[in-house]
Amino acid sequence: MALTLYNTLTRTEEAFAPIDAEHVRLYVCGPTVYDYAHIGNARTFSAFDLLARLLKHLYPRVTYARNITDVDDKIIERSKQSGEPIDGVTARTTDQFHADMDDLGLLRPDIEPRATTHIPQMVEMIGNLVEKGFAYAAEGHVLFHVPAMQDYGRLSRRSQDELIAGARVEVAPYKRSPADFVLWKPAKEGEPGWDSPWGRGRPGWHIECSAMSAQHLGQVFDIHGGGLDLIFPHHENEIAQSRCAHGTAVMANYWMHSGFLTIAGDKMSKSLGNFYTVRELLEEFPGEAIRLALLSAHYRQPLDFTKEKIAQAKQTLDRWYGVLRGLDTVQEADVPAEVLSALEADLNTPLAISQIHELAGAFHREQDPAKKLEAAAALKAAGGLFGFLGHPPETWFRWTTAGAGGLDEAAIEAAIQARKDARKAKNFAEADRIRNDLAAQGIILEDGPQGTSWKRG
Ligand code: AMP
Ligand code: ZN
Repeated sequence: MALTLYNTLTRTEEAFAPIDAEHVRLYVCGPTVYDYAHIGNARTFSAFDLLARLLKHLYPRVTYARNITDVDDKIIERSKQSGEPIDGVTARTTDQFHADMDDLGLLRPDIEPRATTHIPQMVEMIGNLVEKGFAYAAEGHVLFHVPAMQDYGRLSRRSQDELIAGARVEVAPYKRSPADFVLWKPAKEGEPGWDSPWGRGRPGWHIECSAMSAQHLGQVFDIHGGGLDLIFPHHENEIAQSRCAHGTAVMANYWMHSGFLTIAGDKMSKSLGNFYTVRELLEEFPGEAIRLALLSAHYRQPLDFTKEKIAQAKQTLDRWYGVLRGLDTVQEADVPAEVLSALEADLNTPLAISQIHELAGAFHREQDPAKKLEAAAALKAAGGLFGFLGHPPETWFRWTTAGAGGLDEAAIEAAIQARKDARKAKNFAEADRIRNDLAAQGIILEDGPQGTSWKRG
């Protein structure tokens, strides 16, 4: 076992050494719940889902925490625009997020803390920072004083001078230094707010993750992840808050960041308006194919998104499921060593996927029935590590697009039965007519020893 991970903190690929090999702890910044997740968000969450799966394969116990940010300017803004109460916006969007991630086949995190249920922990942490001289209260706000932390900027490798010179952060008269950032801000009339020593207000975004990760994973934990855009300021500020509050040398030992999903070279984002929601893509493609497409590039590389990539991933899965189809039982097997070591090398998914593809090739080339079964078992185990190939193959091939207007399963089964009856009555012309009629609607019949099966062509 030799897991290596690229650590943004050191800008090198390092051997992974957990703090406690009996219990690995991973925190990933989760969604801000005000709208549907887009496929760029899904890329980041799919990458860390795979990391969690791999860790769970390698270690006896893993706690994977991914939060829900349910108090934020964007949420308040959305509620004002639509008139839907804030609680309604966040509850509905959280449900939609869960449904989308489930449909993509992601594992639920072990812990999914919500910001609004951790306000006392945030208030306590802010109080602690004020007491230690790292933060100050001013006009109902509490700010983290960046110059008070000597080695601020280590993750993003920005010097304090650069930060101050480049601070385009809103200039506020109550800030002692332009780089200072908000820990707590006053809540306006009608906005969500909580009582605190600094008046009624609400937390800044960064403090949420510092408080929730400490609560659930401890003051120092193994891995912290998120998309590339979170390195600065979000993760830099999480580190500042946590290290200064707890007096620790690090907040997490390994910081991992996934690359952007782009459209024609631009980052996909809600603000640019160049996005596909996960939901709309799920209406056209199976979730498993979308997730395979997202994992087809190495997680740190940019992935330029096209629907064509999902269509290709669907074909790949057709080929893999095609191996399993028609086999009565597939033995349990170990994940093949070459697939495991590809993933252990900083999640080299392109290599691991090509190796799974090779197992499908071996199945087809192999003449010896026992060896064929071995290849199928290895393929299923390798796919299983990713959370792929879990559907019965027949179900996979019957997968239909919602609203595509295809025949439904009951109609297809009825036609197959009618064809069987026609053949029994030796009415072969009618049997052929039914087969051709189905073929014209994209339904391919395959007669085998177990009877007739079908798939969408
Ligand atoms: P948000 O809900 O905007 O805070 O984003 C949730 C997660 O998705 C964060 O880890 C972001 O870094 C990540 N993310 C946002 N846009 C993209 C993108 N285009 N490609 C990859 N990850 C993204
Ligand atoms: Zn965070």
